[in-house]
Amino acid sequence: MFLKKSYEEEILQFEDHDNLDTYRTGKGRKEQPFLRKQLFKNKKVGTCGICGNRYPVDLLVAAHIKKRSKCSREERLDYKNIVIPMCKFGCDDLFEKGYIIVVDGKVLRNFKKSYTPHLLEKIVQIESRQCQHWNDNTRIYFEWHQQQ
Ligand SMILES: [Zn+2]
Repeated sequence: MFLKKSYEEEILQFEDHDNLDTYRTGKGRKEQPFLRKQLFKNKKVGTCGICGNRYPVDLLVAAHIKKRSKCSREERLDYKNIVIPMCKFGCDDLFEKGYIIVVDGKVLRNFKKSYTPHLLEKIVQIESRQCQHWNDNTRIYFEWHQQQ
């Protein structure tokens, strides 16, 4: 059973650690197992929140919509809304680096960025998709992300 209380205790334990950077190793962060459990439960297959493709869950990451290091403690604990599944076939990096943004629920290219032709081919494949994770609870995080 995955209890909220134990999650909070675990997260706060990471927070209170003297050197958070020890844990700031990309996808290997200590809280990933908890976030993954929340997102994927015990499923073997999951759906990328950006491209909508289904993949084995070990090819998906629990990605923060709002950059984790910019989140308040309260936001980090908002685990039901702060992370969504993203695939390792581009969506995670494209979103994290701002090549794609989600505006009013729609996946769009970011005109502040420059694209190579090949990258644009990739973007076109996912552009205009509806993000199933965009809702009243997550929109503030997507809005933060699109303003970066
Ligand atoms: Zn994807």
